[in-house]
Amino acid sequence: MDIHHIATGQGDCTFAVLPDGTTLMIDAGDLGLPQGSRHWYHRVPDASQPTGEWLCRYMRCFSPNPDRIDYAMVTHFHADHIGSVKESLPGRRGYRRSGITYVGDTIRIGTLVDRGWPDYDFPSRENISRESPLLGDYLKFVHYWKERGMKVQGFRTGADDQFTLLHKPRRYRKNFEIRNLVGNAVVWTGSGSETRAMYSGDPRLFDENQPSCGIRIRYGKFTYYNCGDLSGMNFPRYKCQERDFESYVADVCGRITVMKCDHHAATDAVNEKLMRAARPQAFIVLAGHREHPWKPTMDRMSDKGIYPGDRDYYITTECSRDDLGPELWSLFKPAGHVVVRVYPGGRKYRIYVLDVFSGDYRIKYDSGLRNAE
Ligand SMILES: [Zn+2]
Repeated sequence: MDIHHIATGQGDCTFAVLPDGTTLMIDAGDLGLPQGSRHWYHRVPDASQPTGEWLCRYMRCFSPNPDRIDYAMVTHFHADHIGSVKESLPGRRGYRRSGITYVGDTIRIGTLVDRGWPDYDFPSRENISRESPLLGDYLKFVHYWKERGMKVQGFRTGADDQFTLLHKPRRYRKNFEIRNLVGNAVVWTGSGSETRAMYSGDPRLFDENQPSCGIRIRYGKFTYYNCGDLSGMNFPRYKCQERDFESYVADVCGRITVMKCDHHAATDAVNEKLMRAARPQAFIVLAGHREHPWKPTMDRMSDKGIYPGDRDYYITTECSRDDLGPELWSLFKPAGHVVVRVYPGGRKYRIYVLDVFSGDYRIKYDSGLRNAE
């Protein structure tokens, strides 16, 4: 199994080739920012192609089936996860192309899973539209491809049968699972597919991050965590004071071998409780802003008082290099596409970093073999 974290500087895109060759893409963001924004990073490897095109080229290179993505999961509707109207390209199908609408027009998606289908009204349609200028185009994209055979499903929190192996499910029946941990502020309880809503106030006070969808992939002893931009802390400056969903996920996620940091390891992410429960051996930061990660978050992630033992840090771009300072920055492996390779049986893994600028995805760093714990 290979899990690729594709570096674009413009948002998240994770591409997993599961043990039997089934493919799962998590998000395909594109902020569409002009080169040289003050706080945000520039497009990598360069601005000659739209981000969606860079994503497609990467996935086609590493996919066992370059003409198809079996599952596309959208964690939430922010531009850095689905695409933006800024710098979007006109399309001939009635919607603008950016991020996922670009990718989905180029490589056929088998099943699309997002947190909104079919009504796109949690916490309300106004909330989602306000936070996601591309929403109208995205909905047209969804309907266009649904009419042409793409399956569309709402994310089912608690389920372990929404993302399944399509080719050899029986062969991996005993040691592979994808569990839907959290979505729309509802959290798996840890028993069966039971869930519980973890808020009591008005969800219309949420921003788009709190309802992020998240999954855990388990293969043998190896576990991987990716929960989009889930938040883990309250801050007085936010209207909503029910922002901590990581602590509920921490109750059920168990140990995690490799953690994709929530919300780009920004101000409100990767809280202590989650760290104590998950004790990751490696953190991966998908980074596009100078506060990805935020300095205090990085201090916390490297605090061995929270949990003992070594851990490694990976990052897709150098956007936070100056803000973190030389000491914290030196904890990171060289920046680039971060690829987690899990060996058959899920006992051993290794992490590669691929050069973003080389054109042939040259290996820049190799962790060597590690035992999954
Ligand atoms: Zn984000």
